[in-house]
Amino acid sequence: MSGGIHWTKRAAQQLVRYEALFHLLDDIQTVDNIAEIARQAAAQWKYFANVAAWRLVVENDGGHLVIDGARGAAQVATEQALSPWDAYHWERQRPERVSMPEPDYAVAPPEHLAAPAISEIIVLPVVGAGRCIGLLSAAARHEAFSDMDQKFIRIFGGHLTDRISGILLRQKAMQALMDKATYDDLTGLLNRGSVIERLTSALAATRRSGLPLGLIIADIDFFKLINDSYGHGVGDEVLREVARRLQAQTRADDSLGRYGGEEFLAVLYPCTAQELAQAAERLHSAISETAFAIAGEVPGDIVVTISLGTASTAAGADTHTDALIQLADQALYRSKANGRNRVTAARQPDNETIRLK
Ligand code: GH3
Ligand code: MG
Ligand code: MG
Repeated sequence: MSGGIHWTKRAAQQLVRYEALFHLLDDIQTVDNIAEIARQAAAQWKYFANVAAWRLVVENDGGHLVIDGARGAAQVATEQALSPWDAYHWERQRPERVSMPEPDYAVAPPEHLAAPAISEIIVLPVVGAGRCIGLLSAAARHEAFSDMDQKFIRIFGGHLTDRISGILLRQKAMQALMDKATYDDLTGLLNRGSVIERLTSALAATRRSGLPLGLIIADIDFFKLINDSYGHGVGDEVLREVARRLQAQTRADDSLGRYGGEEFLAVLYPCTAQELAQAAERLHSAISETAFAIAGEVPGDIVVTISLGTASTAAGADTHTDALIQLADQALYRSKANGRNRVTAARQPDNETIRLK
């Protein structure tokens, strides 16, 4: 009789632990934020397993996401290189039980798993598609892990790793889509839509602040001839090098984009007319002063020049995106008409024409 009561009590206790585990599994299934998942895991481990401290490492786009938990709280970090402990177990790909506080072991555990009252550490690699995708180290306090602890740690660790890997993969895919929509494939600069968007936002900022904005359009001279003479591949390489050189001359706050095939747009804000003229000169020199060496493709260097047109907003003027681009484009046209390889500033009512070359 007493045996029966004992069994019932134990079953009830186990049921509470099962409940806690399923509750947590259910919760993390609907949360998309990794820090929040880590927080919930840290807070709820203790209801179904004797886990005092833990670390979960999950593969993340070449690096690793590391979650360290102790005392009901968790910290999420991104690390390129694995700690010796994680690297060792990641490589071995098999579960281990490490006795503490004096481990008979090749590598030292992370500090928070090696606290004085810790009795053992269980290490569980999570394998997906035949390779390690995550590694859970969980530390027991006072007593060693029971069979049930181990089973629950295995189940929860597997789910937690899958969940976090899934979120990381989705974030990566989302980022790749965003990048594709924002940047130009060939040069890595902002694409046409994005640089125009930046111009529109900068114009709005100009209206609010009264600080002037400068716009530069640059177009490679006789680019068709480069394609025709050396082939499209060399043409692409020239475009990449032009982009690199222009980027190197652009301040971090300015926006540089590929506006068309061999045309580039730079939005400078805030920027006075004088700064704009200097910036355009710098861009011009960066391309035209040093010939291009295209590795392995072309025997000699290729002389590449660009023509530029600039336009600026007058203080407080209500200039619109298309109107400003048109002004800069007209200036570019005059650079071309006057012999290319030069900078021309727009003729603007509030802005005297500066002939730079
Ligand atoms: P101009 O001095 O008047 O600007 O002459 P241009 O030859 O540079 O101008 P044009 O507009 O006649 O030719 C531009 C060429 O740029 C034509 C087009 O095939 C080439 N082009 C556009 N996009 C790309 C690209 O992504 N890669 C390569 N290799 N060529 C491109
Ligand atoms: Mg051109
Ligand atoms: Mg062109």
